[in-house]
Amino acid sequence: MNVYDSEKIVSDLAFYGYEKTESVESADLVVLNTCTIREKAEQKAFSFLGRLTKLKQKKSHLIVAVGGCVAQQEGEKLVKRAPVVDIVFGTHAIDRLPQHIKQIEDHKHRVIDVKISESIYEKDFHKKTRENEVVTTFVTIMQGCENYCTYCVVPYVRGKEMSRQPDRIIEEIKHLVNEGVREVTLLGQNVNSYGIKQGFCSFAQLLERINVIDGLMRIRFTTSHPKDLSVKLMNAFVSCEKLCNHIHLPVQSGSDRILKLMNRRYNRDDYLEKVTSLRKIQPDISISTDIIVGFPGETSEDFAQTLDLIREVGYDSLFAFKYSDRPKVPSRHLSGKISENEKTLRLQKVLALQEETTLKKNRALAGSIQQVLVEGLSKKQKGKENQNHDIQWTGRTQSNIVVNFSFTSNNDITFDQILTGRIVGVRIEKAYPHSLWGKSVYIEPENQGLKGDECYAA
Ligand code: SAH
Ligand code: SF4
Repeated sequence: MNVYDSEKIVSDLAFYGYEKTESVESADLVVLNTCTIREKAEQKAFSFLGRLTKLKQKKSHLIVAVGGCVAQQEGEKLVKRAPVVDIVFGTHAIDRLPQHIKQIEDHKHRVIDVKISESIYEKDFHKKTRENEVVTTFVTIMQGCENYCTYCVVPYVRGKEMSRQPDRIIEEIKHLVNEGVREVTLLGQNVNSYGIKQGFCSFAQLLERINVIDGLMRIRFTTSHPKDLSVKLMNAFVSCEKLCNHIHLPVQSGSDRILKLMNRRYNRDDYLEKVTSLRKIQPDISISTDIIVGFPGETSEDFAQTLDLIREVGYDSLFAFKYSDRPKVPSRHLSGKISENEKTLRLQKVLALQEETTLKKNRALAGSIQQVLVEGLSKKQKGKENQNHDIQWTGRTQSNIVVNFSFTSNNDITFDQILTGRIVGVRIEKAYPHSLWGKSVYIEPENQGLKGDECYAA
């Protein structure tokens, strides 16, 4: 979400004549977009502001604006802690940033704007074409959250749940496709409840409308709260051929006792039943999750149940986090806090277990041909485009695994414009814990769906 918001900030400011710089040191305006989901993210923001304090001593005209969730949470307090800041703009004030900058330029009066609005903000995506051509991008379809999981700060810093109008979302995606985007990831804290409050269409219906947008090749979404995952949405994996075969379904814990303390409103069995139903509908669906280790009161037995659930589901990948106390959230008042050391140990166990599974799953793909949406030249290749004919590319499978592959050409052209944004069939030769490596065997014709049969050899 912050990436999406940052893109909006960049395009708004470009309209007012600002350009991106290569380094912070050469900037006249620094906009810091912050996250407060865990304490570490907040600390990072403050340590960056410390660096800016030194910079401003050398460069007095420097304007510093802080936005996002830390800004929303701290408001006026942020300026007391970091006097270097000129503008504090909250999660609902992104639209007003240009006018706040103007005010600082004109009068030098500090601005604090953390008003939460009752209506959803709309990104004016017609203002400017994107700076860099990208193949895959995010599209926010809703903001806020009212689920109040007891550990989570989101409802306090992002406000009430509000969905964007389906027509505006479709219009935005069509605009992005015109600019070269081939894959969108639809964002919401719980996309399953999209449209319900406002009486718009359901999320499954929205997917059907997006699925028929010409030129769009792939659709992803995140996040889906397990309690609201409906059969209709599961069926969309079959009916919408552009919807990638992957779902992120955060479980957080494998212990019923902890799930209750977290106010997740499902238990272990409910979750496992949903996974079984999903796999019945779409047998090879890739499933990822989020895990919190060391929630207050988590015993070794609770933790063992989490490990056991991870084994039982056999996730394709996961994100694991050490529990972190956040301002205002109910869990900070729970007893039985777990030590940092113990949290670190539990985190390592989760990651080691998953690494084993991921590697096993990745190895099983050796020899198969995967459809890869090409995002561009691989990191290794950048800057050496014309040095040889065996060019290295990077992209992702439908199940979201990074694939680096080589494409051998017999002439001198750089294939950047040709392969980027195309679906390429790659024969997998090597599997690593976080990526695959292979060689291209065919390129799908341009603007075809995912499952085209008339591929031609390359
Ligand atoms: N809306 C999404 C989650 C957004 S936050 C959902 O419900 O799935 C992303 C992840 O951060 C969460 O899934 C959770 O695993 C983690 N997280 C949130 N608050 C946290 C906290 N206080 N400490 C540690 N991890 C946290
Ligand atoms: Fe936070 Fe997600 Fe729960 Fe909302 S659903 S409170 S964003 S963890």
